[in-house]
Amino acid sequence: MATVHLPTPLRPHAGGAASVQVRARTVQEALDGLIEGHPTLKKHLFDERGNLRSFVNVYKNDEDVRYLEKGRTPISDSDALSIIPSIAGGAPPAATESATAAAAEAGLSNEEIRRYSRHLIMPEVGMEGQKKLKAARVLAIGTGGLGSPMALYLAAAGVGTIGLVDFDVVDDSNLQRQILFGTRDVGRPKLAAAVERLREVNPNVNFVPFEERLSSENALRILRDFDIVADGTDNFPTRYLVNDACVLTGKPNVYASIFRFEGQASVFWAKKGPCYRCLYAEPPPPGLVPSCAEGGVLGILPGLLGVIQATETIKLVLEAGDPLIGRLLLVDALSMRFRELKLRKNPDCVICGPNPTVTKLIDYEAFCGIGPPEAPAAASGIPEITVQDLQRLRQEKADFVLVDVREPHEWAISAFPESVKIPLGELPQNLNRLSTADEIVVHCKSGGRSAKAVALLREAGFRKVRNLTGGINRWAETIDPTMPKY
Ligand SMILES: [Zn+2]
Repeated sequence: MATVHLPTPLRPHAGGAASVQVRARTVQEALDGLIEGHPTLKKHLFDERGNLRSFVNVYKNDEDVRYLEKGRTPISDSDALSIIPSIAGGAPPAATESATAAAAEAGLSNEEIRRYSRHLIMPEVGMEGQKKLKAARVLAIGTGGLGSPMALYLAAAGVGTIGLVDFDVVDDSNLQRQILFGTRDVGRPKLAAAVERLREVNPNVNFVPFEERLSSENALRILRDFDIVADGTDNFPTRYLVNDACVLTGKPNVYASIFRFEGQASVFWAKKGPCYRCLYAEPPPPGLVPSCAEGGVLGILPGLLGVIQATETIKLVLEAGDPLIGRLLLVDALSMRFRELKLRKNPDCVICGPNPTVTKLIDYEAFCGIGPPEAPAAASGIPEITVQDLQRLRQEKADFVLVDVREPHEWAISAFPESVKIPLGELPQNLNRLSTADEIVVHCKSGGRSAKAVALLREAGFRKVRNLTGGINRWAETIDPTMPKY
């Protein structure tokens, strides 16, 4: 029996199992066997025409089967297949002559020599390496879960210029992992709070804040003065934007992404190896892969991955060791296992291949299938109901059924006592608990999963079904302040 490792988002479709044993002689037989045993996996792995989805990669041991014999790749009982979907949750230009010259000019003061003494006595860093760090210019995109530890360590290590891109405000729910910020920073702009904290760590660093959302319009300008880009963002449009901007400008992109207990890290540098698009040509459709806000993330995990990003960045500056170019590091904190997969440059890559079709930055929101944030549900034709209207229905004791499609551990945080509770993933098997004759209102935490549930119910013939705009959190915010918001 061969082993198939499943990533966290797919495990609920296999009864929560992290791996499944299948009897198969080829990759295709293994996938068929997997789907036979767990039919709901099918739509996550294959498109309507039965082709493996482009944001799902299958590895035999550490090799991508696309570069073996694809579905016909033979497997034996001792082989392990891994299914690696893209996850939301993301270089030594210092090698250039100008950077080396800049390093030579970057003298160290006596204070700096004391500060960096543990580096200076290491042969791999020494005076020369420390000067390279001082001359280095690193752009950290995002100061959140990944960006916090990354920026703290880069500043402490003496990276001379650190650019920071963020436009957000510190929220209570950030503090569980975004260690740049403290309780008193809640409500402050992240950039101001981050620069203040980082200056405290190392006043020798030149911090360059960009208080704007990275976009196709500003990305090339923001990247221009930096040698290395470290992507600490958690959404697909920015992931592809950062990748493409780095490919177009020839800069290395130190990448990590996280989800619950799992993380990925790599260094994408088109000059020397694959880019992110070589790995995942296209993003998953919106909603198929849950974000950290929907799926949660263990607070320590971005710490672990952000420190790996800082390590890779510093290695690129020092030109020391083997960078993660052409390798995807997989971290599973629950089993505390680190695995590594080989990445190859895709000869047909639309941006870093020999015949690129993407030659300038594009509209990444549209590329990722995301509409303008103002009217997402209305645009998709999902009927909505406001929390105020729901309040009226409840007060009038109107004849309707309230359905909660969140997960059981969320019901323990907040819930409407009268709701029918069916997690989204179990809805297709539980349609018999609802009646098409009833007026139905569906809700989740903030409206995303319930919109999917409404679409699913309408497909199944339910006509009188509406989605609660903003979910139970909107209710807690505007109607019932005693209800916790999470
Ligand atoms: Zn590529």
